[in-house]
Amino acid sequence: MRAAKLTAPETIELFDEPMIREPEAGEARVRVKAVGICGTDLHIFKGERSDVALPRVMGHELSGIVESVGSGVTHIKEGDHVVFDPVVSCGICKVCRSGHANVCADVKCFGVQMDGGFQDYIVVEAAKLYRIPEEIPFEEAALAEPFSVAANILTRTAATKEDRIVILGAGTIGLAILQAAKGMGASVLISDVEDTKLAIAKKFGADVTVNSKTEDLAGKAEEFAPGGADVLIDAVGIAPLTEQTVNLAAPTARVAVIGFDGKPMQLQPVVITKKELTLVGSRMNNGMFPKVVEWLESGCLDTAGMVTKSYPAEEIQQAFTDTLSDAASTVKTVIRF
Ligand SMILES: [Zn+2]
Ligand SMILES: [Zn+2]
Repeated sequence: MRAAKLTAPETIELFDEPMIREPEAGEARVRVKAVGICGTDLHIFKGERSDVALPRVMGHELSGIVESVGSGVTHIKEGDHVVFDPVVSCGICKVCRSGHANVCADVKCFGVQMDGGFQDYIVVEAAKLYRIPEEIPFEEAALAEPFSVAANILTRTAATKEDRIVILGAGTIGLAILQAAKGMGASVLISDVEDTKLAIAKKFGADVTVNSKTEDLAGKAEEFAPGGADVLIDAVGIAPLTEQTVNLAAPTARVAVIGFDGKPMQLQPVVITKKELTLVGSRMNNGMFPKVVEWLESGCLDTAGMVTKSYPAEEIQQAFTDTLSDAASTVKTVIRF
């Protein structure tokens, strides 16, 4: 079987490896069919993640076919098309037992702290696999993971169809949140610095798109939601944008913080106090796959519109360099296995 490994920063090599082990009780072996390249993968590729040991098989956004299952597995069987929730936690600590496994102190993600999907086969805990209809192309099904991140953010911010939602950043996550929010009937303003991304956002139903480089975001946001927006999300995840979301918030608004930015941000406590804002963190996803599979089945998402380009496994190195150099116009690059 083939396994694509990051052997050094910016170098992915395709190896011919012995077949991966048989699944044990409660596990399944999956024939990987498609894997999305995530922002996290790009950071690791560039050597920006000191917590990732090399060589590493990256990739956590995957779809595939169940090849075999271990004993005790009944919800999926050989031949099923599946998507995979890559979040792994200890399952026994207080945080896990209280239902917040995605923020367990020992939480790990496939393809980051452990080998992931950029290989022909993977063995995983069967409970993390969710069956999808066979009509859904694998490349599009690989988007289940970013949509689970969007679902988590909308859950954490308790977004409803009455809400006016402001999303800063029309990358994969921003666009996934947009689609999910429009699906529930909310109004959405989305901003970005790339017109190509904003054109896609329009196609996905954004009520207002703003190029924050050439237009007045605060003015447009005030027009869109006089007095401030109800839900605000910095979908880029950097300190200056998170600061901005707080300033665009209406009284009692919910602000999602999803960045992994280690730089400090400057917030005046008085702004949060006066408006009784709620700042909520949102990390990966916590049990959101059933909801995402429902979305995929209902056909309410434009998953095809999210896939910019797909490459065969042999061209994975090229796929990464193209994705980095075409960042302005790339929503999602998918690798086919
Ligand atoms: Zn991802
Ligand atoms: Zn735990």
